[in-house]
Amino acid sequence: MLKKNDIFDAVIEADAGNGSGICRVDDIAVFAGGTTRGDKAKIKIVNVKSSYALAEVLEILEPSENRNDGFCASSAICGGCDFAHIKYERQLEIKKEHVLSCLERIGKISKENFEYFDTLGIKKPFEYRNKMVFPVGYDKKRRIIGGFYKRGTHDIAELKTCAQGPKEASLFLNAVLEYMREENVSCYDEKTHKGLVRRVFVRFGFYSKEAMVVISVNGNKLPKAEKLIEKILSEEQNEFSVKSIILNVNKQKNNLVLGNDNLTLFGRDYIYDSICGINYKISPNSFFQVNPVQTEVLYNKAMEFAELKGDETVIDLYCGIGTISLMAAKYAKSVVGVEIVEQAIKDAKNNAIDNGIKNAEFIAGSAETISFELAKSGKKADVIFIDPPRKGSDEKTLDCIAEMSPEKIVYISCNPATLARDLAYLKTKGYKTKKVQPVDMFPNTGHCEVVCALQRQPRSDINS
Ligand code: SAH
Repeated sequence: MLKKNDIFDAVIEADAGNGSGICRVDDIAVFAGGTTRGDKAKIKIVNVKSSYALAEVLEILEPSENRNDGFCASSAICGGCDFAHIKYERQLEIKKEHVLSCLERIGKISKENFEYFDTLGIKKPFEYRNKMVFPVGYDKKRRIIGGFYKRGTHDIAELKTCAQGPKEASLFLNAVLEYMREENVSCYDEKTHKGLVRRVFVRFGFYSKEAMVVISVNGNKLPKAEKLIEKILSEEQNEFSVKSIILNVNKQKNNLVLGNDNLTLFGRDYIYDSICGINYKISPNSFFQVNPVQTEVLYNKAMEFAELKGDETVIDLYCGIGTISLMAAKYAKSVVGVEIVEQAIKDAKNNAIDNGIKNAEFIAGSAETISFELAKSGKKADVIFIDPPRKGSDEKTLDCIAEMSPEKIVYISCNPATLARDLAYLKTKGYKTKKVQPVDMFPNTGHCEVVCALQRQPRSDINS
């Protein structure tokens, strides 16, 4: 029987969707984080469950041809990138395999019944993030440091580098840390709820080349803020120009990245960026896709699957700040976007006005309530986009979607498991999954985005 602390030399036979390799010991599947198919590794069992076990790697004895060590200097301790040890081409394959396997296992939708494609990857699978968040704290010698949480903990490790975002992010972080050390500004301690600076949050407009630096504090002001501004602006020899420095007030005992109140220390309270030729104002608290290059790939694919000709009525559920709605508005007669966060709907309306888009309207409310009201009022749609959060949609919303009887549904998902569940349900409502396209929005992590095209079946074909 397998026991905790047992040590084995294992041959990794397969890859799980979360960056762990899988091997079999005593006929039990063992998941070993940090390994990949083809690795020979010395592993130690850390947890035994009824049908599987978890292991940690002690040593890679023989690396797989798919291994990619040395992607990032911080990857051994950082909890951020669970695919960092796998070659990028193989990461893309694993994501596709994971999507197909979820559809088969959870949705009982076999790949023989739809068209599927290789994961669309990014040319440069590093420095792709436009948003970086760095916690700030003390090291063992009480020196002020900033960086990232060590894997599975809230202990802060000093940032040497993070390959996921632009190098300017660490320059701006270091400017803040230098100011804090020189002016004796304290770091926040989440255990005692004392101290001032909690996080440094940096946002970039990849097209506009604008940058925003946000300092999140447990207080209302920073001492000698002018020194901080000077330090940050002195990093301006870089690609990005700092258009906004913001003090974010978060005095709550919580783990939220930012509080709700912002005070502009320098410049504007937003930066600009664009997606697919549409401009957006981005405030510290706005939701904005973090990989702008692949967002365009994702949205273009969603539009391709929608096959809009210009005379369609479109609904975009879970629309965020209206990015998909505004793009669809260019190719359709009218669009209604629905989103639960009121601020996002305000942003969406402003984005429509700023871009001179007149055929898109936005409603704040939950997808389940608003789709119910729309369906009850007799609204019909030609195409419905849905892009729910990780937990997926729900039967009530999917029922209302079916009642509005769109010819096509384009489902964009960030979680293949809930996607599979929802596609299975939509099948019972007469919508057949026709195309499945994974898109890699988060290289070096296990996150996987998928766009699916569903087609309404003639009544007689339902359940076939
Ligand atoms: N389509 C957007 C946002 C997708 S993220 C984009 O591409 O940028 C999912 C969105 O669903 C988030 O904005 C979240 O606030 C919203 N949301 C979560 N639960 C919801 C619900 N029950 N009803 C409507 N929107 C919801």
